[in-house]
Amino acid sequence: MRLNFSSMIEAAKKDYLAKTGHKYLNIKGVMFDMDGVLFDSMPLHAEAWVKTFTQIGIPFTHRQVYLNEGRTGAATIDEQFQIYFNRHSTVEEQQEIYRIKSGIFKQLPKPNLIPGIVDVVQFLADNNIARTVVTGSGESSTLERLEQNFHGLFNRSLIVTALDVKQGKPFPEPYLMGLQKLRLAPNEALVVENAPLGIQAGVAAGVFTIGVNTGILEKSDLETAGANLVFDNMQQLLEALPALISD
Ligand code: CA
Repeated sequence: MRLNFSSMIEAAKKDYLAKTGHKYLNIKGVMFDMDGVLFDSMPLHAEAWVKTFTQIGIPFTHRQVYLNEGRTGAATIDEQFQIYFNRHSTVEEQQEIYRIKSGIFKQLPKPNLIPGIVDVVQFLADNNIARTVVTGSGESSTLERLEQNFHGLFNRSLIVTALDVKQGKPFPEPYLMGLQKLRLAPNEALVVENAPLGIQAGVAAGVFTIGVNTGILEKSDLETAGANLVFDNMQQLLEALPALISD
């Protein structure tokens, strides 16, 4: 397995260049999704969303939360309104329902960090690779914890949240904005994601996109979404990084 690791990365790079038409990859920055990549917060989000939707009479499962992950709260709410109430939700309804969800989420325990993620981010900092966070979340409680938990490894002014974009993941806008903030071209960055819609967004932005399967989905869910590489955990990503950031 170990022997095939670097040939797997080379094959994935070649495949990326063939698909995008770029001549080379020259990695100067990495854009991290937040929930399920930095924080092990998805089980908590799942619990909060399922409870919220149950309150308004919409059946919603944990797997659905994971499949919708990356969308803004407003988009998730609106889709369920169309399915169950046969109409769009109003902005007021979206805000009220998201307020309920946030209230439940804040009552739950604080999420832990994803095992191994600090080593990954620290490795990049040590190698002068820029870092940012691109998230569909608008949860201020989690965003505030970024600074405490990563001790200055992320610069707040470079972070893209749900509040910054018109069209969230799976649209490319969040990652295009991340590239703009880092002042990088698509072939100068990596995206690290755990969710199918987030992977679609990274690929649509033209960026080499890595799926790390930290949740309840199948590895194939991330591969089908178009990830250039899929890893089982952050330890594997850390092992792959030297090969990924070298020319
Ligand atoms: Ca995520």
